[in-house]
Amino acid sequence: MADKYPQHHTMRQKIKLKINTCIKARISASILCLVSVLSTVSYAGDPSLLEKTTDDKVVYLTYDDGPESLYTPHLLDVLKKHQVKATFFVTGLNVETYPDVVKRAFQEGHIIANHSYAHKSARDMTGAEFKLSIEKTDSLIRHLTAQKDILFRAPYLHIADSNKSYLCKNKRNSMDATMVGKDWETQDPDQIIDNLMKDLKPEAVILLHDDGGGPNGTRMGTVAATDKLIPLLRAKGYRFGTAETITHWQLKALDCPEK
Ligand SMILES: [Zn+2]
Repeated sequence: MADKYPQHHTMRQKIKLKINTCIKARISASILCLVSVLSTVSYAGDPSLLEKTTDDKVVYLTYDDGPESLYTPHLLDVLKKHQVKATFFVTGLNVETYPDVVKRAFQEGHIIANHSYAHKSARDMTGAEFKLSIEKTDSLIRHLTAQKDILFRAPYLHIADSNKSYLCKNKRNSMDATMVGKDWETQDPDQIIDNLMKDLKPEAVILLHDDGGGPNGTRMGTVAATDKLIPLLRAKGYRFGTAETITHWQLKALDCPEK
């Protein structure tokens, strides 16, 4: 994890993105979605005001860098127990290694998203390497799931300017992360929860990891933290959404120039 790439959207882009998301959403979600579009339009005169107006107590669980053969199945058991759907940003390499885990996650209603092929920073890749890394991973995900549109989140949230034109040209949406568990530093479930809760707010996107590369080579702390976090957030009135129903600009095109 490292610095975030800047993502500033004009109001027109935000409204356009929301409408596109509504069109893709299911009928039931579309009604809520359109209400959200209208609220965006009503604040169109003052973008800074809009950033503060959301009070929809929804949060999004996202897991990066997996899947893995031991921790991801444990995590899927926990999510099933609590009946929560999450978004898994997988690497192509891990999809090739653990296809059955990807299939299981998809069959259980989770979203499978693209986190590059080998988790190399986009800053260290040529344009051609970057394109290949994304398209290879897309094709691996499509082979195992019925997903058409696939979200992208860059490793380390790095996007090089030289690679942005590819993402913009292909209208790739990205899901930001606003509540970070820092589970690459600790596998103490309570510490992970403390790290996350500092940034709790409506429509927050929670970032955790389900690969095998956690501190001391384990992710069981992340699994345990998830098990505790879900009831904790529900007790505070929060529900859980996925990329499929997201209505806010946490889901966004990557700061592309407006056409
Ligand atoms: Zn990552």
